[in-house]
Amino acid sequence: MGFFSKDIKSLDDLFVHTLRDIYYAEQQIEKALPKMIEKATDPQLKAGFQEHLTQTKGHIARVEKVFEMHGVKAKGVDCPAIDGILKEADEVSGDIADKQVLDAALIASAQAVEHYEMTRYGTLIAWAKQLGRSDCASVLMENLKEEEATDKKLSQLAESKVNLKAAE
Ligand code: FE
Ligand code: FE
Repeated sequence: MGFFSKDIKSLDDLFVHTLRDIYYAEQQIEKALPKMIEKATDPQLKAGFQEHLTQTKGHIARVEKVFEMHGVKAKGVDCPAIDGILKEADEVSGDIADKQVLDAALIASAQAVEHYEMTRYGTLIAWAKQLGRSDCASVLMENLKEEEATDKKLSQLAESKVNLKAAE
């Protein structure tokens, strides 16, 4: 976005800007997940993060596909929101000595990330439909479904095991 000119003039421009935002965010998440895998102790949590790293690479590919379908170059734009969520995740986890408590913190941080992605994809899908691009909406919906499923799995893992161990 230019500082002296208003670059976003239409809903279509806003759609492309937000696509660039989630593209950048997904790339930052791809970079952050290996560190979270390393920090996790619970084998199920480790495996879950690993699986989501694979899914995240697929999310990036799908976003690139949507750029292509929409006829614009795939490009990211700084997203201070995801930078902040990931920075906070890193800071909190760096302050925790107990491995079980750390697992609970990692789940909380990961869910903050998933919810950020869900809000962006939800918005993008609504705008794509409004712009007559239900084809783009369908591709974005595939990402949204995987983020939602990941969020649910994390809740289940936290409530069935990780939180209990953290409270011991
Ligand atoms: Fe994602
Ligand atoms: Fe995700």
